[in-house]
Amino acid sequence: MKELLRQGLADLGVPADEGQLDALAAYGARLMDVNRVTNLTAIRDADEAARLHFLDSAALLTLADFAGKSVIDVGSGAGFPGVPLRILRPDVRLTVVDSVGKKVDFVRDSCAALGLEDVTCLWGRAEELPRLRESFDIAVSRAVAELPLLAELCLPLVKAGGLFLAMKKPDCDEEVGRGDFAVRALGGRIRDIKRYTVPGTEVVHALVVMEKVRATPVQYPRRWAQIKKKPLLG
Ligand code: SAH
Repeated sequence: MKELLRQGLADLGVPADEGQLDALAAYGARLMDVNRVTNLTAIRDADEAARLHFLDSAALLTLADFAGKSVIDVGSGAGFPGVPLRILRPDVRLTVVDSVGKKVDFVRDSCAALGLEDVTCLWGRAEELPRLRESFDIAVSRAVAELPLLAELCLPLVKAGGLFLAMKKPDCDEEVGRGDFAVRALGGRIRDIKRYTVPGTEVVHALVVMEKVRATPVQYPRRWAQIKKKPLLG
C-alpha cells in the first residue's frame, strides 16, 4: 500500500514524507484488519483502498486550499476524506461526524493509535450540532446524500466566506442543478464543478465547490425526517 500511495501522491503533486506515508499505510492496514470483523467499508482489498479511499481523498488537496483550515467531514464513515487530509496536512483542524457509533469508534481509536490526538470525533447526526453552527472554514462530504439533502446537513456548519466541498460522481450535473435551490436557501452559492482522475485508475470523480456567502437562516437545518420528506427543491 505504501508504494502505491507514494506514487499516487507524487502523481497528484501532493508532498508526503516517510512519516506521513507510514501513517496513511498504518491507517489503511488497521482499516483492512478491523473490516474483517466489523463492516466499515465495502472495499476489502488494500490496493483498492489505497486508490479509492486514500488517493481519492488526497486529490482534494489539489482542488482547494486547506492550509490552516478548520474542516468538518460530514458522514465520515471510516474516516474519508477527512483522515487522509489531516495526515497530509497536519495544520488542518479536523472534526469528523458520523451517525454510526462503530465507525466513529474506529476513527477515534485509529487516530489515537497514530498520535493524531487533535482530531475531534463526534458520534451523532450532522443536522443536530447546534453548537457548531457557522463554525468551520470547510465542510467536506463523500457518498452521504443527494446534494439537495446534503446541503442542509453541511452548509449550516460552514462560516461565511467558507467552503462546502461535495465529492460526487462525474455525471453529477443534474444533481447539482437540483441542489442549486437548497444551496442558495441555506446561504451558499455553487462556484464550480471540478473533475479529476483518481491516480492509478481511470476513475473520474467530481468535486462540487460551494461557498458560504451569508449565514444560514435559523429555521435550517430541520430534522432529518423533514429534510427527507420535503427537500429544499424550490
Ligand atoms: N464518507 C465515507 C462514508 C460514506 S457512507 C466514505 O466516503 O467512505 C455514508 C456515511 O454517512 C455513513 O457512515 C452514515 O452513517 C453517515 N451518515 C448519513 N447521514 C448522516 C447524518 N445525517 N449525520 C451524520 N452521518 C451521517
